[in-house]
Amino acid sequence: MSGTSRPKFYVTTPIYYVNDVPHIGHAYTTIIADVLARARKLADRDVFFLTGTDEHGQKVQRASAERGLKPRELADRVVVRFQDLWRDLSIEPDFFIRTTMPAHKRGVQKIFKKLKEQGDIYQGTYRGWYCVSDECYLSEDVPEEADRTKICPDCGKTAHLLSEKCYYFRLSAYRERLLDFYARRPDFVRPESRMNEVVSFVRGGLKDLVITRTTVSWGIPFPDDPDHTIYVWFDALHNYVTGVGFDENLELFRKYWPADIHLIGKDILRFHAVFWPAFLMAAGFDLPHCVFSHGWWMMGGAKMSKSRRNVFDVNLILKMFGPDPLRYFLIREIPIGQDGNYSDESFLHRVNSDLANDLGNLVQRTLTLIRKAFGGVLPDPDPETEADAKLRGEFGALKERVTALYEEVALTRALEDVWAYIFSVNKYLADEEPWKMIGDASRRGRLARVLTQAASAVRGISHLLFPVIPGSMRKVWAWLGEEKRPEDVLFRDLEFGGLVPGRNIQEPTPLFPRVALKDFLAAMTEPGAKETKEEAMEQVSYDEFKKMDLRVAHILKAERVPNTDKLLKLEVDIGTETRTLVAGVGDVYAPEDLAGKRLAVIVNLKPAVIRGVESKGMILAAEWQGKAKIAFYDGDVPAGSKIK
Ligand SMILES: [Zn+2]
Repeated sequence: MSGTSRPKFYVTTPIYYVNDVPHIGHAYTTIIADVLARARKLADRDVFFLTGTDEHGQKVQRASAERGLKPRELADRVVVRFQDLWRDLSIEPDFFIRTTMPAHKRGVQKIFKKLKEQGDIYQGTYRGWYCVSDECYLSEDVPEEADRTKICPDCGKTAHLLSEKCYYFRLSAYRERLLDFYARRPDFVRPESRMNEVVSFVRGGLKDLVITRTTVSWGIPFPDDPDHTIYVWFDALHNYVTGVGFDENLELFRKYWPADIHLIGKDILRFHAVFWPAFLMAAGFDLPHCVFSHGWWMMGGAKMSKSRRNVFDVNLILKMFGPDPLRYFLIREIPIGQDGNYSDESFLHRVNSDLANDLGNLVQRTLTLIRKAFGGVLPDPDPETEADAKLRGEFGALKERVTALYEEVALTRALEDVWAYIFSVNKYLADEEPWKMIGDASRRGRLARVLTQAASAVRGISHLLFPVIPGSMRKVWAWLGEEKRPEDVLFRDLEFGGLVPGRNIQEPTPLFPRVALKDFLAAMTEPGAKETKEEAMEQVSYDEFKKMDLRVAHILKAERVPNTDKLLKLEVDIGTETRTLVAGVGDVYAPEDLAGKRLAVIVNLKPAVIRGVESKGMILAAEWQGKAKIAFYDGDVPAGSKIK
């Protein structure tokens, strides 16, 4: 890189799978990336921000088949939902990559071929239990005499013993190089605790990776052996190089590669911190600077994920509040890396207290006073007193700290520091009481000073907050009569006294809506808006519990209830008789996977007719990530055994 060019900053999100619709988990990662990209631009970095969609693989193939669509048609529909949500959240990536783009495919094929030619990829046969749901083989080795099926320990579904010709990536050869790399670059994985996890995984030994499939047609074919499609993870990870120009815009690629930060959820750490650097080492690419793993948003103790409720929440919140309150809440509420708990109450508290009260009032009060006292045009102020100088000095220190915290990806702390300063400015106004000086000719110069200090603070605060809440802060700058937008001024050029005297200050409108908790909760619990809130746990006596007749049942037969997305009709043996049950698990379990399974059933529940089928009893299942996970028994338990 030449001496005159600005340092670059390349940030990525994972590419999102198109068999899912966007939800708050996707939004969280992508908002963090957007905040980092905006903050680095203000720090005079040449920024590239990449996000996109992962469109190949068995799950997309199946999901599209179920809807009677071609995989590409399903992808086209879902992609728009991601792109629309990013627009509505003020997220502005520099490029949105789709793995079905021809340039991406060519790039992946080229890298694959190179690794094959140099011996990092070789042909072999794989035998193992394959879990269709997770799209991977179980990690256990298969003994000579093996069962044909096995329960997947990750998802509880049946994995089938398969053997197929495939290509392997020689991951085992990279163990020492990876360990050496981690030792030299201890901050490659953040937070630090996750680095330890990665190192101990690699120390434990690495097996070669299967990286092609012959049973999945929806993928990138290996041109020299087109029966093989490239394993979806190998395909997807390379978006980080093809999305930034490899190898059809090498100028772009050389400018931005390697990535500075790969933002990921902690569930895909191994792919990014072990497999990805090994692929890159093999291909001869430089390695990324950092894989930053963030936590999950929980709701009522469960990970937020694909479910109508979560999806709807984001859209409803956007409709009621616009993008900035949600951006602020997600960044402010928990430091990146920890898990967070979403509740409507905690969200609304942040909006009403932090945004509307602390920040919104400060802006409103300051600008309104300038309008009232001086018709919007600040006159020459008196010289600074000690209190005035202190407010200015504190801002200088705040700017240094906040810009450093953005750099360190300590976004929550950056916001905490800005809010501490907002308190100082509010206290300054409360102490000076400028509203009492209006109309007093002898104090006109003093009033001008107090309002100049307050307006300068508002201007500075708005600039520092711009990466997190860009839309609202742009408004404040316009009200202040700034000709430039906040994004056009670098952090280093931001001065406390940057307000130009004589400028006409505009009448502000409320920045953040103040919504009463009961109205918000009512909106969030409207019929169809959201499933009802978790009811408070009520204690039951053992006698009450005993009234429930819980039995082990064997599933004899399972089939889909016609014209429903997820209802399955189950014939079960409960020991004394055969019962018909209807269960909403068809989005998780295929009927053919259920036959022969043992599970827990309440047999004395009042029968209910569901979609024309009488259901006599109910199966027990956990809800996880918005989906049902059936409580199965393994081993021999006779049908009809009582559960107590
Ligand atoms: Zn599984």
